[in-house]
Amino acid sequence: MVRENIDRIGVVGAGTMGSGIAQVAATNGYEVVMRDIEDDFVQNGFETIEGSLARFDEKGVLEESPEAIVERIEGTTELGDLAACDVVVEAALENMDVKKEIFEDLEAVVDEDVLLATNTSTLSITSIAAATDSPERVVGLHFMNPVPIMEGVEIVVGQKTDEAVVSLAHDLAEDLGKTTWESDDKPGFVTNRILMPWLNEGIRAYDEGVASKEDIDAGMELGTNVPMGPLTLADHIGLDICLHASETLYEELGDRYKPAYLLKRKVEAGELGKKTGKGFYEYD
Ligand code: NAD
Repeated sequence: MVRENIDRIGVVGAGTMGSGIAQVAATNGYEVVMRDIEDDFVQNGFETIEGSLARFDEKGVLEESPEAIVERIEGTTELGDLAACDVVVEAALENMDVKKEIFEDLEAVVDEDVLLATNTSTLSITSIAAATDSPERVVGLHFMNPVPIMEGVEIVVGQKTDEAVVSLAHDLAEDLGKTTWESDDKPGFVTNRILMPWLNEGIRAYDEGVASKEDIDAGMELGTNVPMGPLTLADHIGLDICLHASETLYEELGDRYKPAYLLKRKVEAGELGKKTGKGFYEYD
């Protein structure tokens, strides 16, 4: 059985997603242990959290001071510090070998009734869970970027995930102020399965001269009422992440998911979108 009384949440990875998950958990009153492999990465995580909390504080939407929230987060590079956690959410690199190793190591550290979640965008929950001796407690808890702002969390059910684990995953996400939906463990789940071909088609349309990038984005924003067109959204997600997700889907689902040629070329040129100052658009 899985433990339902949750006070302390472990987060593996202090990058974009891990720091966001740690922030949201601490904001909602949980104790958090945020683990990365190097001190600098842990520190970067804290800087991201402090920057984000300062913006929320300016808007007057926090119930406590940012300092009081940050105080609930313990940063560490030691996996063993996750031992006292009631739930662990993994948000490390999108790489199957890395994730399998983390889950194998986690199993040796946490109690056997602790839910183990992964924030993977595209990798199989069932495959990650297979690295453990207890695949029934492994579930996908797919937060969206930026975690403190995006309301949705996709709950991904692996082949062996226990029903009580799925139910606890919904409850936990809702307790963090999120709204959930459920997906079977099929490539890309609901969101990326549908989003990635849409982004790639936007990139192809641009590459093939259908319209300027601004007009492609305007056409989709004004014409279909989405908040961001495909080229702007791809820049925000990061073109390397889009390419990686597209390649995973292509491998699993074939030609209709083939990454756009221009997406590959941009990534090879180091133009990864907003985070490098240049993708399809330029950023300060
Ligand atoms: P990121 O590169 O910003 O952060 C990953 C962090 O994990 C890095 O700080 C890295 O040092 C750390 N790490 C690597 N190996 C580790 C280990 N063994 N133990 C602990 N930490 C380790 O990546 P991200 O964008 O935060 O993505 C994390 C996960 O979330 C990925 O699986 C990704 O697919 C998923 N995701 C990302 C987004 C997004 O838009 N960025 C959205 C949804 C889901």
